[in-house]
Amino acid sequence: MRLLSLLLTLAACASALPMDCGWACLFTVEDIPFTGINSSTVGFYVFACTNPLAVQSIFMCMRYYCTEHEQQVALNAFNDTYCPLYDVKLPSWSIIDNITDAEAEKEWPHIDYDTRAPTETFYTPVWIERSYYKIWYRTESDFDNIEVNSDNYGYGILGFWGAVLFFGIVNNLCRYLRRHHRLPRAFTLFHRYLVVPPVLRSRSTVPVIHSEIPPLMQTLMIIIFVCLNLILCFVTYDAFSQDLFWHSKADQLMRYIGWRTGAICTLNIPFLWLFGIRNNLLIWMTGWDFATFNQFHRWIARVITLEALVHTVIFIVFEYRAGGRVYFMTEFWQYIDIYMGTVATLCMMFLCALAVSSFRRAVYDVFVLIHKALAIVFLAGLYYHLFYDGPAYLNYMWPAVAFWVFDRVLRYGRLAYWSIGAPRAFAEYHRDADVIQVTVPVRQSISPQPGTYFFLYSAHSLQVWESHPFTLAGWRRASSPGGTASGRDELIFLFQVRKGFTSRLRKTLCNRTDGDGNGACKVRVNVEGVYGTPYSSGHCARQLFVVGGMGVTVATAYLQRFAEAIQQNKSSVREIHIIWALRNYALFQYIQETCLTLWEQVPVADRVHLSMDVYLTGDADVPNTPKEVTSEKIFTPAVVPMESDNDQPPSTPPSQASPWTIQFYNGRPDLTAAVVSHARSFSSEETKSLAIIGCGPRSMTHSTRVAISMAMESDLEVDYYLAPFDW
Ligand SMILES: Cc1cc2nc3c(=O)[nH]c(=O)nc-3n(C[C@H](O)[C@H](O)[C@H](O)COP(=O)(O)OP(=O)(O)OC[C@H]3O[C@@H](n4cnc5c(N)ncnc54)[C@H](O)[C@@H]3O)c2cc1C
Repeated sequence: MRLLSLLLTLAACASALPMDCGWACLFTVEDIPFTGINSSTVGFYVFACTNPLAVQSIFMCMRYYCTEHEQQVALNAFNDTYCPLYDVKLPSWSIIDNITDAEAEKEWPHIDYDTRAPTETFYTPVWIERSYYKIWYRTESDFDNIEVNSDNYGYGILGFWGAVLFFGIVNNLCRYLRRHHRLPRAFTLFHRYLVVPPVLRSRSTVPVIHSEIPPLMQTLMIIIFVCLNLILCFVTYDAFSQDLFWHSKADQLMRYIGWRTGAICTLNIPFLWLFGIRNNLLIWMTGWDFATFNQFHRWIARVITLEALVHTVIFIVFEYRAGGRVYFMTEFWQYIDIYMGTVATLCMMFLCALAVSSFRRAVYDVFVLIHKALAIVFLAGLYYHLFYDGPAYLNYMWPAVAFWVFDRVLRYGRLAYWSIGAPRAFAEYHRDADVIQVTVPVRQSISPQPGTYFFLYSAHSLQVWESHPFTLAGWRRASSPGGTASGRDELIFLFQVRKGFTSRLRKTLCNRTDGDGNGACKVRVNVEGVYGTPYSSGHCARQLFVVGGMGVTVATAYLQRFAEAIQQNKSSVREIHIIWALRNYALFQYIQETCLTLWEQVPVADRVHLSMDVYLTGDADVPNTPKEVTSEKIFTPAVVPMESDNDQPPSTPPSQASPWTIQFYNGRPDLTAAVVSHARSFSSEETKSLAIIGCGPRSMTHSTRVAISMAMESDLEVDYYLAPFDW
């Protein structure tokens, strides 16, 4: 708190402008009816720049109360900027050379706060009393401070994000170094207590204003960000009753809070956009996934919507109070900056309201479409608002536009790169497992990385704006022995059928059904990627996968990578264990058939121990919060059959060809217990590095986080990666 007040004081000191003294002297003569031209007929600046009596009074005030530097700054501004703006020229400073301060104070009429607006005409310059000058100085410097402080506080928030990102980059670097070097224990403790665990251990995802509570470290950052904004919007105002611009404290506070909230809101906009785009280099630099940046994006949006709302309401109320009902109902709303600013605020409110997770999840594509449309209207509204009301702040809008354009160009560039000249993809629908496998031929330029994902676009869909993220489940290299049918590298995606794009694709495939409900055909599906933060776990001797449902696609990609490395004698992996919770046994069979059988050709022998615990959770809806369930072991075959006539686990052990040891359980796994006991069983062994890779629904990710942080208590070197499956 002390640091904060010191920073606030520094920001406030930095905003005492040298120009304030000159402005204060200038305004002291505003209401004095000198003989000759006066402000009511020619305007204040023409009057102040040309009426010799006014100019002498202003100059004398400056000479008596301002420092030489302040005098120079003010004279330069009046001579070079303000007077030329009205096509008039300020007389020379020498017009007060022939009178001393003492003479002026003695001979000229004195003006103070009470006599500041006399009615009689003045035929001489006036002497400004110190007390009156001070009131103007305070009025003026308060006014300037608000502008400067608003910017400084906004920079403080930009600095906060800079610090967060710096921390993220250093943390990522440390995680990388940790693979080859021993880092101080503090690093592990920091991850164990702050980075990995969720905020509340006992509950999975806790709805808070229709959102979810993110992990502890993320939550802390968000809390600091929200508090920083709230504090900086509402501190260091110096309202006083004699203020000469706004005649009541309430008016002053309204104007100043209105300005501050508007400025801070605008300065937040670049990060709002940066954190919301797919092609964000910071994802790669920090190792944080898109979901993390998306959380930040949402919280920035919520906070700045609140700021924009306060800004708008305050100005509307102020204008209503100042101008009266008739002005408010007629003239006020005709100003483009006013109504476009109001439109921008309304857009933000709708954007936030429609981004609640219940709506987002129910109709994701509609949400995305509305989100983009409202974002465009918001930017247009903001542009017109700022163009008239603070053009300097447009500098904070353009980076947002640039980030957006950059993202779009990269998206479509990458889509074109992968798609142009590529043969059609091949899609297969497997009825029992209710999964679609899409194999997309692509250029041979990347080495596919497990843990990454691509966006799939389909020409079958009329909704061309749609693109859906899918984890890379496997690949075939054109250069591998036997090559590929398409002569290109092929990326394999596996997906569960939901209600939108996936359901439409299933319909297309079902039209080509083979009689047993399965269907396959060539489809126009294109990919855009690569996205995600590929995590290489090969440095760990033990690999533990904790996956739920289709989250198994993350494991299949890693398994393929390990199999390749073992075949090339480049692997130091000694054990792979998979904990997989799924509803549909047929899905297990499908993965067994398409993925695990590959291992029959891998020369694992005694070198690598492969095991899997399969938890069949049945058809019941999976609740949001994990329940205490005692899983019942139902079968422990050495291997699992590749074909089964029904949806039930097999009752007899099949052939011994597969190196996998698989155990089946009924019910949901107690993930924390399973992971921790697994980790502890390693800690007595000599090879102490364990990688835990998780992917699945939110409730599962929650439990996996708790489990990882507990596993870190052992003396194992635990590394972890939680692949995103949702945002
Ligand atoms: C990084 C990532 C990797 C994924 N990998 C896989 C995978 O390998 N296999 C798999 O089966 N599923 C995966 N998913 C989930 C998959 O993206 C959605 O199930 C799919 O988009 C649903 O499409 P739909 O139109 O049929 O769904 P809908 O029935 O319209 O929606 C079903 C759910 O999917 C979400 N969703 C829909 N469209 C999108 C989108 N464009 N972006 C993010 N979420 C969306 C919705 O919020 C909703 O909760 C992944 C999701 C993410 C974020």
